[in-house]
Amino acid sequence: MSIPEFESAAPSDILRWAYETFGDRVALSTAFGPSGVALMHIAARVNPGARVFFIDTGLHFDETLEMVERVQRRLAVSVEILRPDLTVAEQAERFGDELYVVDPDRCCAMRKVEPTRRMLAGLDAWITGLRRDQGPTRADTPILDVRPVDGRTVYKISPLARWTRKDVWRHVFTHDLPYNPLHDQGYPSVGCAPCTRPVEAGGDERAGRWAGRSKTECGLHTQL
Ligand code: SF4
Repeated sequence: MSIPEFESAAPSDILRWAYETFGDRVALSTAFGPSGVALMHIAARVNPGARVFFIDTGLHFDETLEMVERVQRRLAVSVEILRPDLTVAEQAERFGDELYVVDPDRCCAMRKVEPTRRMLAGLDAWITGLRRDQGPTRADTPILDVRPVDGRTVYKISPLARWTRKDVWRHVFTHDLPYNPLHDQGYPSVGCAPCTRPVEAGGDERAGRWAGRSKTECGLHTQL
């Protein structure tokens, strides 16, 4: 498939290309939001047992951790759980109790970016649920991106880049897929508990992430 063809291809065809091209050296990254669930559903149909990885920062909501179990019961995916080098307690001891308040970029670098970098060292490609309508920092998301990570070429594939929030929820409801109950309590996007707030109805999808700060991304998609 050529790059222009990706723009008009269905997510299932993009995923099929990815699994045929990279085999076991491609994995899907998710925090178990609705885009990730829709994508895992499509991936499991194209490639039963598809590799998925989740970063357990130690600071997730219980509802998010329960999603890991619920999705594994429902979909044919193989989930790998990655953890930061330091536990939350060890980080508090070395950097203070609330690094996510004092220096959230450093906290994200240790608790999210570093474990992802470790995972990517063993992959040729990763699949993400990024969508262009999620905000200005994601508006130009290519469906296929090629980037150097620690001196190696790593492909980044975002099959849902052209989808809207509405497309995602339609897919979730049409297929009766599990979703995080926090979405019904005013959280359109769910990250770590200390850095996620509810958003008023109709607010931006990611407005509740690091609310009140200029930070809008954890660094996974900007640094790697
Ligand atoms: S989202 Fe917040 S708590 Fe989670 S890693 Fe980033 S700064 Fe730390």
